[in-house]
Amino acid sequence: MENYIVSARKYRPSTFASVVGQKALTATLRNSISKNRLAHAYLFCGSRGVGKTSCARIFAKTINCRHRNTDGEACNECDSCREFNKGASLNIVELDAASNNGIDDMKNIIDQVQVPPVNADYRVFIIDEVHMLSNAAFNAFLKTLEEPPSYVVFILATTEKHKVLPTILSRCQIYDFNRITIQDMVDHLSYVATQEGIIAEPAALNVIARKADGAMRDALSIFDQVAASSMGNVTYASAIDNLNILDYEYYNRLIEAFLTGNIVDALLIYKEIREKGFDSLFFINGLAQHLRDLMVAGNPKTMCLLEASDQTREALAKVAAKCQPTFIYNAISLCNKADLDYRTASNKQLLVELTLIKLCQLLSPSPHESGAGEGQLRPIKPSAQAPQATTTATTAPQPIASDQQATYGN
Ligand SMILES: [Zn+2]
Repeated sequence: MENYIVSARKYRPSTFASVVGQKALTATLRNSISKNRLAHAYLFCGSRGVGKTSCARIFAKTINCRHRNTDGEACNECDSCREFNKGASLNIVELDAASNNGIDDMKNIIDQVQVPPVNADYRVFIIDEVHMLSNAAFNAFLKTLEEPPSYVVFILATTEKHKVLPTILSRCQIYDFNRITIQDMVDHLSYVATQEGIIAEPAALNVIARKADGAMRDALSIFDQVAASSMGNVTYASAIDNLNILDYEYYNRLIEAFLTGNIVDALLIYKEIREKGFDSLFFINGLAQHLRDLMVAGNPKTMCLLEASDQTREALAKVAAKCQPTFIYNAISLCNKADLDYRTASNKQLLVELTLIKLCQLLSPSPHESGAGEGQLRPIKPSAQAPQATTTATTAPQPIASDQQATYGN
């Protein structure tokens, strides 16, 4: 692989339109440039990896572009744009306040503010993680922020808006960046995969997007990692193996055990999971998340709350159809209790096993008397309140009646 460039760098957006997941915000920025309504200071807020710095750089390039196109985007061809794209422009100054937060760093910026732009209209100062500036640096900065030269635009960025002083907030136009949705990430990863000639299963990209937790940059790094180790064929199996993610399949097998009251199966599946090296707390939380996903997949109205591929949605809806809403609520509640008790439990494995037993008993509250169907449980007095009780180990759980389904969500 000659001249390998990581995807997060190679596919860094170069126009507002190519920024992933921030359509409304980038449209507003683009409009303000086209209409020449620039503020002297902007504050970009949002979690890491959502495109704040990329947008700041695109903004700096666009306001200095000589031939903006009709959409208000930079041409990426004029001298100014080329210098920006090479990272060689003198009209953009970046300061990472996370590591340069002292008064001297700020004095340096204030000195630079006095230098007019070179072959351009504006100089843009990007201060990343602005909330990290020391008090002395903040105070030194305030005056300049209040009355900067006409050619200066400040773009401050922060992951923690609540830590930015009100005196700074009141002097800035504030833009709140969204977390990037799973679907937006999957779409972008899919585009990158195509460009790179990598075959990628949608379910695999979904796993990667979930792991990235709202940060596009992380998603691209994880994608590179999985692509490298799976020789350019990114499958669901290679993704979960590489990222040490517990396969949905384990959770589905457990749900089956809960529905049939099969304690033996449940305990053995848990043993398998531990032997694969998964932490018990991680497992319990994963199970709770899976149950939550089943809950929302069980009703077409709440399906929109599920950030998953169509394939996954369909699979979850199928399992959800076997579960009564009350069973899912109670199961989530048991997992939640285990999570709360976990830190104080002296025997954590026992706590999880006990939780699994209780989950198996949700629908079948007392043990099987005949001994047939090892691990099976069924009520002493069969009643309408225990609709999922089964008599043999091989009996599959019955789908709930459609009228019961219809009441869900009311
Ligand atoms: Zn240009």
